[in-house]
Amino acid sequence: MAATRTFSIIKPDATRRNLTGAVTRMLEEAGLRVVASKRILMSREQAEGFYGVHRERPFFNDLVTFMTSGPVVVQVLEGENAVQRNRDVMGATNPENAEPGTIRKELAESIEANSVHGSDSEENARIEIDFFFKPEEIVG
Ligand code: AMP
Repeated sequence: MAATRTFSIIKPDATRRNLTGAVTRMLEEAGLRVVASKRILMSREQAEGFYGVHRERPFFNDLVTFMTSGPVVVQVLEGENAVQRNRDVMGATNPENAEPGTIRKELAESIEANSVHGSDSEENARIEIDFFFKPEEIVG
């Protein structure tokens, strides 16, 4: 099976606790390769755009505030079945429901401060990668 790509964010709760390496290690051990990575401070406008599908949800404002509260690491991950592989290693959105050994079970603080984002489909992966990366920034 050919390698595919997904998009990942290491969220502010993880960067604040110096867990960038710990998260990346779990991604790599799950068979994903970091083919692009940058540490950024998201603007409110960027966070609102990125999470636009959640605009009407009650947690939207808090989510945007949280995602702009500290640095994040945006990454492009590559591997066989990358979207599903990443979702499997991330675990359930709410860390309380996540399986042992997943990033969220082992590292996340709460349903909001849940340490990582991962695309939910290949189509959204392409959109999300384009949102943060120029083609020449994805270096393999
Ligand atoms: P997703 O687009 O699936 O990544 O969801 C967006 C993010 O919103 C999740 O990863 C959580 O950080 C946050 N979130 C989702 N549901 C809730 C909720 N019920 N309360 C607070 N934050 C939430």
